[in-house]
Amino acid sequence: VQRTLALIKPDAVNRAAEIEKVITEEGFTIVERRQVTLSQADAETFYAEHKGKPFFETLIEYMTSGDVIAFILSGDDAVARWRQVLGPTKVSVARQEAPSSLRARFGDPGNDSKNGTHGSDSLTSAQREIKFFFPDLTLE
Ligand code: ATP
Repeated sequence: VQRTLALIKPDAVNRAAEIEKVITEEGFTIVERRQVTLSQADAETFYAEHKGKPFFETLIEYMTSGDVIAFILSGDDAVARWRQVLGPTKVSVARQEAPSSLRARFGDPGNDSKNGTHGSDSLTSAQREIKFFFPDLTLE
């Protein structure tokens, strides 16, 4: 069993109930859930690996435009399986290649930032991102 960090991004928070239904239906357990507003500094830290990329400013503006909801999900092969549920990064691609994926259903196809949801891309990222959103939590 693994744990991963899932995020509902600002544009999809108003559809959190539907997304949480998918989380449960896909067999994940919600270990923790937290709704927060990211500061500019928070968002820059979370996405530090993208600093310097052409879309970085847009991404930070988007991620600080409203609340996000962070989840710790647990389940078998949770990291890869949650990425599968998300679908491709670009919503336009997701709609073509994985129409039932979360990004296809809840993202904005006209905007490469506003894909609605996030998931850790590796076990190492999952550990870092869980610590980022849930710093007070001690997980074995
Ligand atoms: P990762 O777990 O590696 O963050 P990801 O599928 O979210 O995976 P990344 O390529 O890492 O995708 O990009 C991080 C986020 O930045 C995306 O989820 C999206 O919101 C935004 N983004 C990515 N590419 C672009 C782009 N070309 N233009 C605007 N925003 C982008």
